[in-house]
Amino acid sequence: MTPAMTEYWQPQPPVVTPGKACTEAVAAPSDAIVLFDGKNLSQWENTKGNAAGWTVHDGVFTVKNGTGDIRTKQKFNDYQLHLEWMTPVGITGESQARGNSGVFMQGMYEIQILDNYENETYVNGQTGSIYKQTPPLVNAMRKPGEWNTYDIIYTAPTFKRDGTYRTPPRVTVLQNGILLQNNTTILGTTPYIGFPEVKEHGAGPIILQDHGDPSAPISFRNIWIREL
Ligand code: MG
Repeated sequence: MTPAMTEYWQPQPPVVTPGKACTEAVAAPSDAIVLFDGKNLSQWENTKGNAAGWTVHDGVFTVKNGTGDIRTKQKFNDYQLHLEWMTPVGITGESQARGNSGVFMQGMYEIQILDNYENETYVNGQTGSIYKQTPPLVNAMRKPGEWNTYDIIYTAPTFKRDGTYRTPPRVTVLQNGILLQNNTTILGTTPYIGFPEVKEHGAGPIILQDHGDPSAPISFRNIWIREL
């Protein structure tokens, strides 16, 4: 197979301009586990289990190209996750090579993060897609240099004895308060090449992707999770 065999470009989701951004971040509620509070990456590690190599500065952290993905030390099942991300002013590149990152549920299933502000790509690979599966309902991007929020409600799968899904994973995604995925069924893994696969797993980490795009480092802030 080639990558293009699982990419489709039409119809492009309509563009919805988000309402005015809050000047203050949405602070974590009392029962949340704070995964990043602006100070350090103590809740995170690289995928080899060593210290996360991304850069903390000015209350945010930024992908350090080439250091690899980072994951939470803690593993989760069902949750509500809040995170905020921003692509830089002056970003270059197009389609997938423009601020590509991603957030993985249970280390398995990628919700895409990409700069899709006036940047078309295949719709099942744009921001808020379940990567290479389901496009978002709309394109709710803010401009580079403005913070986007993600609120993700995730239901973990259950498995039959033979390792197939008894109940598949499901996800709801809001970007900047706008619905992108409405309790959508996740079909399996989210590979770049090939079709989704069903692989049995238990609780897993949140992973953030280092896609290796030097021109477009993405920053993150204010990450918290509520286990359900
Ligand atoms: Mg990605």
